[in-house]
Amino acid sequence: MTARFATSRERMVQEQLHPRGVSDPNVLKVMSEVPRHLFVDDAMQARAYGDHPLPIAGDQTISQPFIVAAMTQALQLQGCEKVLEIGTGSGYQAAVLSRLCEKVYTVERINTLLAGARKIFDQLHYYNILSRLDDGTTGWQEHAPYDAIIVTAGSPEIPEPLIDQLADPGRMVIPVGDRSVQELQYLSRKDGEIKVQRLESVRFVSLIGEHGWKND
Ligand code: SAH
Repeated sequence: MTARFATSRERMVQEQLHPRGVSDPNVLKVMSEVPRHLFVDDAMQARAYGDHPLPIAGDQTISQPFIVAAMTQALQLQGCEKVLEIGTGSGYQAAVLSRLCEKVYTVERINTLLAGARKIFDQLHYYNILSRLDDGTTGWQEHAPYDAIIVTAGSPEIPEPLIDQLADPGRMVIPVGDRSVQELQYLSRKDGEIKVQRLESVRFVSLIGEHGWKND
């Protein structure tokens, strides 16, 4: 199951990730191991390691491998963190994170996507991922604070509840912008001080909820 497409994964790392600046050896190792093809439709498995996003159910998308790797690297995980992800989607990003931290809490608003992701987590024995059906723009208060937060849908602004649920020290990556194009923002909190840096320009599906876009 995981041995399949091992060569495609290795090529993806060598051709798409390493040359574009993903250099964290732990991130590269995990990207070469997590079976991305299981997170897409059977008919698209052969394209799973290509340099592009792919459609998943509910008109949503699984991000391009480079974006997953770059956002993961930005979180600088050491292995002991609690990470909150908003937008489970296929489950692939959560799966990658789960190999690099202690526990992943992931929130999705579309039930069929969440159910599909949960099935694959179980199949792969990725037991340190907890998931929940909800509006993730309000975070997941019960397990806060989080050492790292990743939002994988585009938001008009950084949802206040997510800032409230970020630990000190803590860091967050989130695409912020309009509905068609966003910039990836990196927010860090240290000794009570919050800093925001702008990274690259990205295209994500919309973050829909109380502290995001109000409708589909
Ligand atoms: N991380 C995913 C990317 C999925 S695309 C992956 O690796 O495949 C973004 C996802 O965010 C979609 O599944 C969409 O339904 C979800 N989403 C949008 N608004 C949300 C919200 N308020 N709360 C939780 N999930 C949301």
